[in-house]
Amino acid sequence: MKQEIERARLEGAGFRGELRFGAPLAPCTTMRVGGPADALLCPEGLGDLALALRVCAQNGIRLTPLGRGSNVIVGDDGLNGLTLLLGPLDGIWMEGGCLVRSGAGASLRALSLFALGKGLSGLEFAEGIPGSVGGAVWMNAGAYDGEIASVLEGVLAFDKEGEPHALKNADCGFGYRHSALMDSGLLIAEASFRLKPGDPAAIKARMEGFSALRREKQPLESPSAGSFFKRPPGHFAAKLIEEAGLKGLRVGGARISQKHAGFLINVGGATAADIKALMELVQGEVFARFGVKLEPEVRFLEREGQAQCSC
Ligand SMILES: Cc1cc2nc3c(=O)[nH]c(=O)nc-3n(C[C@H](O)[C@H](O)[C@H](O)COP(=O)(O)OP(=O)(O)OC[C@H]3O[C@@H](n4cnc5c(N)ncnc54)[C@H](O)[C@@H]3O)c2cc1C
Repeated sequence: MKQEIERARLEGAGFRGELRFGAPLAPCTTMRVGGPADALLCPEGLGDLALALRVCAQNGIRLTPLGRGSNVIVGDDGLNGLTLLLGPLDGIWMEGGCLVRSGAGASLRALSLFALGKGLSGLEFAEGIPGSVGGAVWMNAGAYDGEIASVLEGVLAFDKEGEPHALKNADCGFGYRHSALMDSGLLIAEASFRLKPGDPAAIKARMEGFSALRREKQPLESPSAGSFFKRPPGHFAAKLIEEAGLKGLRVGGARISQKHAGFLINVGGATAADIKALMELVQGEVFARFGVKLEPEVRFLEREGQAQCSC
C-alpha cells in the first residue's frame, strides 16, 4: 500500500499535498483519542483528491475521509488504508446572488462568519458546530431549529473512482442528522448554500445568542464529540441518562459530563476502548430502566474487519 501511494505521488501528474505514514489521528479529532493512520493524505486541490480516490480504487486501498473529526471516535489501533484529511480544501467564495460556495474542508464557523460578512442570513445555527462543511452535509448537521438541509443548494461529490457528480439538495435524501450520502460512498468535495439577505447586526446577535447557550449548557472546556447519542423517538438522550443517575459515571479517562449528560467527555488519557465501554454501560442502564435503546450519533472508525467503516 505504501508503495502504491508513493508511486501515485511520484507519477501522478504532479500530485500536490502532504502525505504522512503512521501519523497520529488523535490530534485530528475533537475527542483526542485514537491510534495512527497507516497513511494520512491532505490533498491540496480537487484534482489531487480525484487522483487519490482513483489510486485507492485501482489498488483496493481502503479510504476514510475525515473533516474536523468532531463526530468520530477513532479506534485505539488507528486506521488502515488511507485517511483523507480534507482541511486544505477550505476555500469560501460567492457564486453570485445569495449563493455561497465552499470547499468541504472549510469549517462551519468560517462559513457562517463569511455569510455574516456578506450580510447573508441562514447559517447562524452553524457557527458553533465544530465540524467541516463536508462532515456537516454528510450527516445534515443542525442546531437551534436550523439544519444544513434547509440552506443547501447543491454538492459536488466524487465517487470511488474519482469521477465528479453534481447533486442537488433533493438528491441528498436528507433526514434528521442523516443524508443518503452516508450510504453512497461518495466523497463531498464542495457545497453551495442559498442564503437570504439580512441585517448584519441581527445575524451577529443570533450567532452570539446561540454561542452563549452552548457555553452555558455544553462542556466545551473538555474534549468530546458533541451529543453522543441520537435523539430516541419521543425522548431526549441526556434526560434519560440523567434520570438513570449516570451523570459523572466514569470508565478510565471517559466520563459522562456533569454539565450535560448527553456528552461523553475525555477527562484525560481516555482511550477509544474506555469510551466504548462507557457507552455500553449507559446503553445497558438506560434500556434496563426505560426500555429505550440509545444509538450513538458519533461514528466509530476502526481498523477494517473490527467495526463499521464510513466509506
Ligand atoms: C462540542 C461539540 C458540539 C457539537 N454540536 C453539534 C450540533 O449542535 N449539531 C450537530 O449536528 N453536530 C454537532 N456536533 C457534532 C459534529 O460537529 C457534527 O456532526 C459535524 O457535522 C461533523 O463534521 P466533521 O467535519 O467534524 O466530521 P468528521 O467527524 O470528521 O466525520 C464524520 C463522518 O463524516 C465523514 N465525512 C467527513 N467529511 C466527509 C466528506 N467530505 N465526504 C464524505 N464523508 C465525510 C467521515 O468519514 C465520518 O464518517 C458537535 C460536536 C462537538 C465536539
